[in-house]
Amino acid sequence: MTTKVRFAPSPTGRLHVGNVRTALTNVLYARQTGGTVLLRIDDTDLERSTKAYEDGIRADLEWLGLNWDESFNQSGRFDKYKAAANKLKSLGLLYPAYETEDELDRKRKIQRAQGKPPVYDRAALDLTDAQKAAYEAEGRKPHWRFKLSGKPVSWTDLVRGDTTIDTASLSDPILIREDGSYLYTLPSVVDDIEAGITTIIRGEDHVTNSGAQIEIFEALGGEAPAFGHKALLVGADGGKLSKRLGTLAISDLREEGLEPMAILSLLAKIGTSDPIEPVTNLQALIDSFSFDKFSRAPARFDPAELHRLNAGVLHALDYVDVKPRLAAMGADDGEAFWHAVRPNLEKLSDAVDWHQLIAGPVDPVIEDAAYARQAAESLPDGKLTTRSWGEWTTTLKAETGRKGKDLFLPLRLALTGQRHGPDMSELLPLIGRERVLRRLQG
Ligand code: GLU
Repeated sequence: MTTKVRFAPSPTGRLHVGNVRTALTNVLYARQTGGTVLLRIDDTDLERSTKAYEDGIRADLEWLGLNWDESFNQSGRFDKYKAAANKLKSLGLLYPAYETEDELDRKRKIQRAQGKPPVYDRAALDLTDAQKAAYEAEGRKPHWRFKLSGKPVSWTDLVRGDTTIDTASLSDPILIREDGSYLYTLPSVVDDIEAGITTIIRGEDHVTNSGAQIEIFEALGGEAPAFGHKALLVGADGGKLSKRLGTLAISDLREEGLEPMAILSLLAKIGTSDPIEPVTNLQALIDSFSFDKFSRAPARFDPAELHRLNAGVLHALDYVDVKPRLAAMGADDGEAFWHAVRPNLEKLSDAVDWHQLIAGPVDPVIEDAAYARQAAESLPDGKLTTRSWGEWTTTLKAETGRKGKDLFLPLRLALTGQRHGPDMSELLPLIGRERVLRRLQG
């Protein structure tokens, strides 16, 4: 059986690292098993969903290199959900209930006071036709609940192993609201059946849902797919990330100058037994993916780690991979330039500053003018190469008796105006004889 997975974001906000971890897990599993990826836009909430968020989600996924094979929006499929609801009604599995939010609240309070779990008491199942008619006459509209079996539902979860949800401990879930709108539960099952989804990979916050949804799959005549529920993402300190997720939007990370592969390197490996290291292509993540490596403990997301990985990814990129982006920043100065500055980058845009060291303008810092003059006189003849720096400093050492920092730092300060930076042997030929001599004059 070929696998088919789906990533199903709701376009009610921007894509954040939590969503992307789910998308990535789906993509890695699908690509490793030769399966397909469906991008389903869960926009049944017509008020909160926007086209702008949807476009943003697609753009972010594309930027990350997480491709999908098919895509559709739930908002175009209400007739399907209606047909499924009718089927459940005819099976006696979807029933109208008329309690208001306040009434339900009161029931729960009483249950709690009696030490009982706040599970819906199914009073609506006992309503006579006359009572229902009376409610309707009052102007009440029903919401519709799915009648759970009251039995345990078990599955072998790809992450959690043997998992059981006792539906007796759950309230019958509301599938349709008073205003006729659908909650996420039913449309998702209808679509998963029709799309032939073989594997649902999502966060642990959906485990209880899965218990109810498995019964809906079966009621609608489908076979429930396999499930994998990943442990949740938490902050570096183990605290909840949910409140901070808004600040961890992918579009912000992109603005900040983070590389897609740095983000993916981290999100693919946190919460697994694999080491977290910079990986420059998706294929390597696909090859090393395995559900067996996923831990059941929450995955810690540390932005500092993202920055470390970003540097690591950049340091491993070849010139051809970055040439167009360097050019767009006005910092493309050939392969030798890339090799010289690459080890000093935390973000690609740092290359712009390093490029300025070469092209100028630079404010030379000269503390000892005599030494600078001597250095100018001793500069090796001819075209400067990567060997010139070694020759030059060896000569200067012999001539002046200087060594270590006293020998090197004044030269770096004169040529770049800075105390730190890329390797001088690589910079020297890039700066070139003429500019070197000019800068040594101050
Ligand atoms: N739209 C749902 C969500 O974002 C999808 C959950 C699922 O993967 O089934 O929570």
